[in-house]
Amino acid sequence: MFAPPVNRLITELARLPGIGQRTAQRLAFHLLSASDEDALPLADAIREVKETVGQCEVCFNLATEPTCRICQDERREGAVICVVEQPGDVIPIERTNEFHGRYHVLGGALSPIDGIDPEDLHITELLSRVSGDGVREVVIATNATTTGEATALYLADSVRERSPDVAVTRLASGLPVGSDLEYADEITLGKAFRGRQAL
Ligand SMILES: [Zn+2]
Repeated sequence: MFAPPVNRLITELARLPGIGQRTAQRLAFHLLSASDEDALPLADAIREVKETVGQCEVCFNLATEPTCRICQDERREGAVICVVEQPGDVIPIERTNEFHGRYHVLGGALSPIDGIDPEDLHITELLSRVSGDGVREVVIATNATTTGEATALYLADSVRERSPDVAVTRLASGLPVGSDLEYADEITLGKAFRGRQAL
């Protein structure tokens, strides 16, 4: 229907998460009508991140050097490791200013149906970090989804088996701040109930 380069751009855009065929077409036409100075920085930015950003060799967070900025920061507490699924999960936790330890990025969650087994994630590396230098707590901050919960249980068992002296904790999940009880779904409400605390 379109010239081959236009089709190629639409196809590439449509492969991005959350972008359907129609949105891909709209974005492609937007880029086609934009000036070179407006459109080409996007191409340059994609090339630059792919060429300069890699994985931290300790925690697998994004890094432009062999280790990431958090692993390089001497002020961060090495005794507590927070485990997340993706590099993008580090940012919201950092924004809370509640956590001053280190991270470990798994690279996903266990999902046997999708063929994602323990050896596909950075679990071995986590276990050797935990059994090493003075770690006393592992905070599991995988998503509150079926795969995230399954991963949390698997990690808790694996850490306990290998390093029984290390505490394993899970982020509390509860009611969204500012929301009414009657609008909470039963899973969220059930978890909030089980996680109730003394006042
Ligand atoms: Zn790191």
